[in-house]
Amino acid sequence: MQKITLKESDLVLILTGAGISAESGIRTFRDSDGLWENHRIEDVATPEGFQKNPSLVWKFYKERYTHALEVNPNPGHYALAELEKRMPNRFLLVTQNVDGLHSRAGSKQVIEMHGTLHTCFCTRCKQKQKMNNIDLSQDIPICSACGKALRPDIVWFGEMPYRMDEIYHGLDKATVFITIGTSGNVYPAAYFITQAQRRGVRTIGINKDKPENIEYIDEFYQGKAGEILPELFS
Ligand code: NAD
Ligand code: ZN
Repeated sequence: MQKITLKESDLVLILTGAGISAESGIRTFRDSDGLWENHRIEDVATPEGFQKNPSLVWKFYKERYTHALEVNPNPGHYALAELEKRMPNRFLLVTQNVDGLHSRAGSKQVIEMHGTLHTCFCTRCKQKQKMNNIDLSQDIPICSACGKALRPDIVWFGEMPYRMDEIYHGLDKATVFITIGTSGNVYPAAYFITQAQRRGVRTIGINKDKPENIEYIDEFYQGKAGEILPELFS
């Protein structure tokens, strides 16, 4: 297989999506007809869905959290952690995933732009709490500081993704942009590559299926991230 050669001077920004965790046993959206584990997005991944039925939403994310603890990072996650070790100050990993598998594989510079399953926060005082510190037997877990309902620390559709300033700063400086395991359907993440290409940045894609935004990818590798990534960087 053709290798990607990175230069000493390169600054790499990587964007990952649900596809990189597929080989760990976590289902993607697209593999489930646009549903998330058999639920409609409006019901479990919007503020309105939470307002309407908070216990259903909590049940859903408790299941996702428990499942994320049961699975393990795969060779794709480990390959990115290794790459970061080789270029520690020239590397930024932005993920749309909420499963925490990049950090568990050893990645350090990770921006979880859509939040994480491993924390939640109070709907009133906003205090964050670790999921492993709260009583998950409650239908709707309660904030220990103020007694109001907690909510999952997930960026739902219609909400502003986290750490966008840092991401745009990274995009401004990057010389190589690599998109992995994302369908290019969820915005604003799907815009990042157009922005990179407009700046003349080298763009690389690794995906099982051709993504929506393939026209913006200079070098495309079709296949599974866990098989391709460990062999890809020379
Ligand atoms: P998506 O489900 O829309 O697309 C997944 C993409 O990954 C598809 O293009 C598919 O071809 C590709 N893919 C599947 N298996 C692959 C593999 N083994 N190797 C490489 N590519 C593979 O995912 P998305 O674009 O990330 O958007 C989904 C949204 O849902 C995200 O915002 C994310 O927050 C959320 N989500 C997260 C998880 C997770 O944390 N693991 C899982 C499901 C959904
Ligand atoms: Zn509170």
